[in-house]
Amino acid sequence: MCYWRHKIEHIGLACDAPMDICMTFNNTANSLIKYDFAKRIDASECKELLHQAYESNLVQCGENVREGVNFICNCCGCCCEAMLAAKKFGNMHPVQTISFIPNIDSNTCVKCEQCIKACPIGAINKVLKDDYVVIKVDEERCLGCGVCVRNCHKNSIILLKRKEKIITPSSSVYRAVLMAIEKGQLQNLIFDNEALSSHRAMAAILSSILKLSPAKKLMTSDQLKSVYLDKLLSVKK
Ligand code: SF4
Ligand code: SF4
Ligand code: SF4
Repeated sequence: MCYWRHKIEHIGLACDAPMDICMTFNNTANSLIKYDFAKRIDASECKELLHQAYESNLVQCGENVREGVNFICNCCGCCCEAMLAAKKFGNMHPVQTISFIPNIDSNTCVKCEQCIKACPIGAINKVLKDDYVVIKVDEERCLGCGVCVRNCHKNSIILLKRKEKIITPSSSVYRAVLMAIEKGQLQNLIFDNEALSSHRAMAAILSSILKLSPAKKLMTSDQLKSVYLDKLLSVKK
């Protein structure tokens, strides 16, 4: 069941998108089934749900890992808090994009604005270009979900590969480390108990080491002779 649409249903504001549509796998699924929050289905039923989600213009969002995916959600732009966050804080990338970006052919586009209405996160706008109105995708915010493509009756939108490569982490642990590195918070991920003075001290030391120049990092690693530190510094490059 879709958690957010279910929540919004309690205040009478849920949209018409299917409720029993989000999928979980592995241990997460076992636990939800055990406590009667989910039901077991087979692979063909999963495919049918994906098809229903596609037909309902939902954004298909999987866990951002290459192996051991624990969920595939099918999100709408009105109830789903992940999509609402992407709409509100798009530039902070609360939802990871994929490697594709829509390209609008301005020669065939008739500016019907259907794609603007369909985009779940408001990433398409009407803008003025050389005194002409054009329909433009905000590439910083766009998730590459493809919902706009299937809503353009003129077939004016195609998905192209993004110029920059998007790297999907191999596992949840790798993803957590990458996110911590991107946010400059690796030290807090490793020494996560701020109540312990030893953790606070080690987090501060590691944070300072991570800010050093490559040459100084090498000297630090040599002095400490730590295989563990070597590994961390090689990830941070
Ligand atoms: S992420 Fe979207 S589709 Fe998945 S449970 Fe939440 S609201 Fe539903
Ligand atoms: S839906 Fe297609 S034709 Fe309509 S504004 Fe968007 S790109 Fe143009
Ligand atoms: S692919 Fe289209 S619908 Fe999806 S986020 Fe980007 S602009 Fe919006």
